[in-house]
Amino acid sequence: MAQPHQHNSDIRSRLGLRQVVNASGTMTFLGASIIVPEAIQAMSEIAPEWIEMDDLQRKASATVARLTGAEAGFVTACCAAGISMAIAGAMTGTDLLAIERLPDDTTGLKDEVILQVGHFVNYGAPIDQSIRVAGGKVVLAGTVSSVQPHHVANAITDKTAALLYVVTHHAALYGMLSLEEVCEICHAKGVPVIVDAASEYDLKGFLARGADVVIYSGHKFLSGPTSGLVAGRKDLVRAAYLQNRGIGRAMKVGKETIAGAMAALDAWEKRDHAGIRAREQAALDLWLETANGLKGLKARIVPDPTNNPLDRLEVTVLPESGYTAVGLARTMAAGEPPVIVRDHEAELGHFYLDPCNLHPGEAEVVSQALRDALTSETRPEGAMATTRKNPAAALSWPD
Ligand SMILES: *Cc1c(COP(=O)(O)O)cnc(C)c1O
Repeated sequence: MAQPHQHNSDIRSRLGLRQVVNASGTMTFLGASIIVPEAIQAMSEIAPEWIEMDDLQRKASATVARLTGAEAGFVTACCAAGISMAIAGAMTGTDLLAIERLPDDTTGLKDEVILQVGHFVNYGAPIDQSIRVAGGKVVLAGTVSSVQPHHVANAITDKTAALLYVVTHHAALYGMLSLEEVCEICHAKGVPVIVDAASEYDLKGFLARGADVVIYSGHKFLSGPTSGLVAGRKDLVRAAYLQNRGIGRAMKVGKETIAGAMAALDAWEKRDHAGIRAREQAALDLWLETANGLKGLKARIVPDPTNNPLDRLEVTVLPESGYTAVGLARTMAAGEPPVIVRDHEAELGHFYLDPCNLHPGEAEVVSQALRDALTSETRPEGAMATTRKNPAAALSWPD
């Protein structure tokens, strides 16, 4: 068994925060990422220094370009910020006055952004808001189960600024047009295609397949600080970058984040991906055996729905367990330590265990939490809950 991870319990206890085990994935609400040591080092090195921000971003452009194959790139506060800035850039180009006029005054600008209906997702905030923040108007194409070429072709007008293409397990996973298809339709009319690839491993593929701009989260698989990467065609990236003088100001990125994201990208190139996969597989094998040995659970290993090179454990919660999937997820989250599972589709009767963000020794903690919940003599309140969303707690913050 791996040595248990030495948590930074000093800062935890100083701030009065409890330890949680993350079996859910890279989640903003849990702190986004385990930042790699290289990035932490770069962040602390640059923190006390004066630097010229445009020069730092120029260096970041070269790093982003190297990893993505883009002509240029920059670091922003997060992927959502990058989407808004890229959309704004597609609207304003390098018109400095237009940049200051956004978001409410779009006089004379192209301001329509096409979105396939099945891409209309919420990743913690609704994606249309990332467009509206820039002053863009969402033009929906097709339906949630079917988008055809004529839907997108007819959505294009002389006011179309861009099409936003979203890659995520939250999107409709069938019936949408492919990236190649939307690129063909849009490029024929001079419309750029902007890809939200926040949580994708593939740093080169979307641009190689025709996207004009692609945006990644720096804090998801890249394990950098909370940040976003904008990469793509130089004119569009430049226009997006110039939004730092406009709507991007409210999404300001610091030197420490830029340096940290660059270091995370460098580290990504050298990462032992095979070794990481092997550790994840060991966690999955342990969980599979545990779950299938417990009455009322049925588990299987499933691939990532957007083809990232990782697997998760799908745990189906049957009635004889005395839990619903929602109830079991809630029970584990209320445990000691809390174990947070991937429950976004728990209404379907299953949740997932994600091995990507475990510290050494935590796979065993997750296994034990499952075992404890299923073998206890009684069932806690909420064991049979069927609704996952409970805004009441959020609404009482900070109490
Ligand atoms: C996480 C995510 C976002 C938001 O990314 P942030 O970097 O947290 O702003 C946007 N789109 C998709 C598809 C995501 O998964």
